[in-house]
Amino acid sequence: MSVIADDYSVEFLKCRSHGHPWDFIGYFRLEGFLNHIVQESVCLRCGLQRETELSADGEKRIAAYYRYPHGYQMQPGKSPPKAEFRRALVSRTPVYGSAAELHAAQQDRVAGSE
Ligand SMILES: [Zn+2]
Repeated sequence: MSVIADDYSVEFLKCRSHGHPWDFIGYFRLEGFLNHIVQESVCLRCGLQRETELSADGEKRIAAYYRYPHGYQMQPGKSPPKAEFRRALVSRTPVYGSAAELHAAQQDRVAGSE
């Protein structure tokens, strides 16, 4: 019995199983902190936003803050291990007989979405 709800987003499962495809947005200065800058990123798949606080020269990583998309987070302290997310993703995703079949299906999907 999975602890992950059946209606939990497949996109969230992909990110929590295999990591976020981060897009680099840029840097900004942190008001009142001359020695710090912030690097902003956003996940191209789930929309998670990350702000990484750095030393002004970029060498030192001080802290990271996340703004989660609606529905991403589970109850505090109830987040299952990564293996559970992988298992849930496999159970909800087609598994093709070969790499060639997978790639053919992806081609059809891309062609169908145009
Ligand atoms: Zn993501």
